[in-house]
Amino acid sequence: MIVTGTQEKKILAQAREERWAIGAFNAFDINTADAILTAAEELGVPAMLQIWDFHDPEAPEGNSMLNAAATKALINMVIARAANSPVPVIIHLDHTRTFGGCIRGIQNRASSVMIDASQAPMDENIALTKRVIEAAHACDVLVEAEIGHVASNNDLNNSQYTSVEDAKRFYEETNTDLLAVSIGTAHGFYATEPVLNYERIAEIREAIPVPLVMHGASGLTDEQFRTCIENGIVKINFATYVQIEGGKAIVAALDKMNEAGRRPVFNALVGMGQKAAKDYIKHHMELFGTRPVTL
Ligand SMILES: [Zn+2]
Repeated sequence: MIVTGTQEKKILAQAREERWAIGAFNAFDINTADAILTAAEELGVPAMLQIWDFHDPEAPEGNSMLNAAATKALINMVIARAANSPVPVIIHLDHTRTFGGCIRGIQNRASSVMIDASQAPMDENIALTKRVIEAAHACDVLVEAEIGHVASNNDLNNSQYTSVEDAKRFYEETNTDLLAVSIGTAHGFYATEPVLNYERIAEIREAIPVPLVMHGASGLTDEQFRTCIENGIVKINFATYVQIEGGKAIVAALDKMNEAGRRPVFNALVGMGQKAAKDYIKHHMELFGTRPVTL
């Protein structure tokens, strides 16, 4: 079942209270969507599946592989798959930079949407977030906002830790449902070791009552994940390494087929990549301590 914003709020509040986290995994196609949901179904825990606003000209690169019609079809497939799942599924619209993008997410049955104006000055970020929240809450959809910029592609110098004062001010003025904070991680791959500020996570958790979100979690160690969660991270965005695991499984399968002199079959290869992605996601759901919930 796809959960409403109210139900999502309940799941996240329980996670925050009991100090476990939910992995927010990105679906790029029906295979990754199925891997995410199958992993959750095998464990009997809630799933959080993220998609991007593929029409957003500022959306992350890599989405351009889908044209508008294919995007719509993907959303329809993902929604149908999630609606028929026995576990609660949170459909989340990841990084969206415009009001219109968030509205498209709401229209497409998202449980929650992310408005990312973290690169704009604080006052602009607050103003845009408030607008999105007014529209989203009218439709029982939650909103995630971000303050303190989470860097990309190893540009760690560009990353800044979110301050407690900023988090407090932002929460008080916007009443955001989820808050993404910058605590030393970066999107994509790491060239140098990330320096995570666990104390800051704990201080922000103490200061505001909303679930905290960590972006750029690929590449962290199990220990780093556990410590982030203990200190108050509730939602963990996780994309890059799932794709790598799936890709590695496909390469290994292809090598085997070549050695055996068999022809490479597209759907068999994709299936092997999907299974590897599913197992990897499942491992992380267990690592994050994701628990069954009653709604
Ligand atoms: Zn992100």
